[in-house]
This record gives sequence, C-alpha cells and structure tokens, in this order.
Amino acid sequence: MSRHQRLANQALRVALTNIEDLRYKFGAVLVRKGKVLAKASNTSKTHTIVVNYPRQSLHAESNALSKIDDPTGCTLYIVRARSGKFAPSRPCPFCRKLIAKFKIDKVYFFEETPTGVRLVSERLI
Ligand SMILES: [Zn+2]
Repeated sequence: MSRHQRLANQALRVALTNIEDLRYKFGAVLVRKGKVLAKASNTSKTHTIVVNYPRQSLHAESNALSKIDDPTGCTLYIVRARSGKFAPSRPCPFCRKLIAKFKIDKVYFFEETPTGVRLVSERLI
C-alpha cells in the first residue's frame, strides 16, 4: 500500500466513524512533511449556514483546515465514503477558496471502493 493510500485510509476511517446521520460521509487528513496534523469528517452536506470561517465550516476539508492554527503548505487528503449514490467528487467552491487561501500545495481526492480506496483526482491548487 502506498503512502498516499495509507493517508487516504486514515481519512476514510474518520469518515466511517462519523456517527452523524449524513447522506454523504467524507473524511479529510491534513499532512505536512509526512506528519498528520489534523483529521476531520464532514458535519453537514452543505455550507448553507456558513457565515464566518472557521467556526461554522462544515465540510471535512474545511473542518480539518480549521483544526490547526496554520495549515499553510499542508497536503490534503479527502475521501468520500461509498454511498452508492451520486455525490460531489471535488471540493466545493467554499472549500476551494480555503484551500487556495492556505496555499495547500496538493489535494488528493479519493473514494472508497469495495476493496479500499481509489484516487479520483490529484491536483495542485
Ligand atoms: Zn466544501
């Protein structure tokens, strides 16, 4: 298993252990220099009540970004737990803004498969 898959599996565990009743479950892990600095799940499926960053951020990636003082330059792993239904496979516009704001150098987006995790996209922001 690659380092990326191990980190994605950590994000998946965060998503799957989220006990909130959510339609879609996501997990995110923030990594800098090989060290995991924050893990978070989503806490709602939209940002409709988000007013101010960071206290009311609700997606896994923005929740993870809000957990540490300075996430600048981290790498972000996001995993969508398999739902069997359509779900967005990329960070939403709000999270993309946060990702850009903190100069997250790379974002890996995975999804759960019956046998583990699969890389969906890999991008420089
Ligand atoms: Zn988002």
